Parts: sequence; C-alpha cells; structure tokens
Amino acid sequence: MIPYRGRLAPTPTGLLHAGHAATFHTVHARARAHGGNLVLRIEDLDSARCWPEYVAGVIEDLLWLGLDWDEGPVFQSARRKLYLNAWLLLVEAGAIYPCSRSRRDVERAGRAPHEEEPIFPTEWRSSPDPTRDDPEGVNWRFRVPDGRELSFFDGRLGKITRVAGRDFGDFVVWNRDGIPAYELAVVVDDATMGITEIVRGEDLLTSTCRQLLIREILGAPQPTYFHCPLVRDSTGRRLAKRDAALGIRALRAAGASPDEVITGRFSKPLSRLGQ
Ligand code: GLU
Repeated sequence: MIPYRGRLAPTPTGLLHAGHAATFHTVHARARAHGGNLVLRIEDLDSARCWPEYVAGVIEDLLWLGLDWDEGPVFQSARRKLYLNAWLLLVEAGAIYPCSRSRRDVERAGRAPHEEEPIFPTEWRSSPDPTRDDPEGVNWRFRVPDGRELSFFDGRLGKITRVAGRDFGDFVVWNRDGIPAYELAVVVDDATMGITEIVRGEDLLTSTCRQLLIREILGAPQPTYFHCPLVRDSTGRRLAKRDAALGIRALRAAGASPDEVITGRFSKPLSRLGQ
C-alpha cells in the first residue's frame, strides 16, 4: 500500500479563522490516524495579496492550534516552472484556449436560477492555439466536455457528481496577469508531492470535479477525498477572513483554548471570554 501523504494548504491572504482551524484539524487528525506524512504548502501565488506577515501569522496560528507537519513549508510561488510545464501539456493536448473574457464578463452574463455559479457562455469559446509556447497576456480556459458527468467518492459525503457545462463551465487555468490559477496549481502540486488524500472544505466540491478533468489530461494519479463541513457564524453565513471576531487571534486573545477554537464549543459565551 502507498503510505498516506496529506497536505495543509493555507492561502496567506489573511489570518486564519475558526473555520480554517476546524478543517486543518481534520487534515492533521486524518494524517496522524493513518500514520502518514503531512506537507505544509503555502498557497501564495497571488503575490499582491499574500503578505509575508500573513505567512508568519498562519504558521504561528497552526502551531498554537497544536497542528504540526513533517515537510515544508513549500511555497507555491517558488514552483512556477512546474505550473508552466503543466500549462504547456494542456496546450499540446488542445484542452485549453486563450480567452479575452474576464471573470467579470462571465459574472455580468449572469447565471440561470439552477446554477451554483455563473457558467461561461459556450458562444464565447475560442479555439486552442497549439503554436503558443508561453501563456502571457491573456486568460487561458479549460474547455469542459459539455454534458459529461464527473464523479468521485468523498470520505464523508459519499458519491459526488457534477455535470460539466451545467454545474460548471469553462474555467480559468492561467490568469492574464501571469498568475497560474488555483485549479491548475493545486493539481500539479498534489500530483508532484504524491498526496494520497486531499482533505479540504466542502466549498471546493465542484472544484474537485474541475480538477478531475485536469488530472485526466496530465495523467495525475487519483487521490482519495474528504471534504469538511464549513463553519458558519451565528447568522448561518460561512466565515470569511474579514470576520475578525472569529479569527484565531481574537479568540486566543479572548482566552479561548486551541481545543475550543477547533471544536467551536466554548466554555463561556464568546462575549465573556477573557473576563
Ligand atoms: N488554499 C486553499 C484554501 O485556503 C485550499 C485549497 C485546497 O485544499 O485544495 O482554501
């Protein structure tokens, strides 16, 4: 059997909140329960938004939560060459095409009531360009096989299926500003790092289906998946980095213990912590 390898993959565009703590705790617990190795991968491709202070803060918070790792930190910003190689393979396979439409154009085109996200209109598709040997200056989109069902087995949720062209449309794999997109970078990293199980938030279920398509073209081995529930605030909204009140720093300053932050069960009402 292949030994278990997991990854902790924070994006340092801000500090961690209680939702990250719960997910990263599950990442850690599953790796340790399998006697596996854990890689810390810092997803810092967007250099304008990923600040060194956040990297240091995220690492400090992980350690405070009692979550350790065996390898890394590995920085995505140092792995551009690998993503470029993958981009070239996708170009050669005719799987992606240069696209002048922005994400905002797609949002403006709107979404049908049943759609989880706005779908890239198929009439905006252009042809692949096998003559290109660098991605610069334009967005690159993956042409999805319309109508194809993409399924995987999730360790918590069971079989998950999405239909290409209905649940998600052509998606960006390389941004016009020169930054490889999350979907591409994460597939390349998980494959080259030999990750055997991907544990992350359930907001990424549809992304997993997009990633299956990239994996197929790149011939990446198939990991197992475990998507964690999202932590919500008292109004039912999922937490965002701007929700400072449920930030690990604020909870810690208010006297919460790592275990309370991870479980979301506090011995005193949050408003009275620290009193
Ligand atoms: N870096 C992503 C995040 O912080 C996680 C990506 C993943 O686990 O694939 O949401």
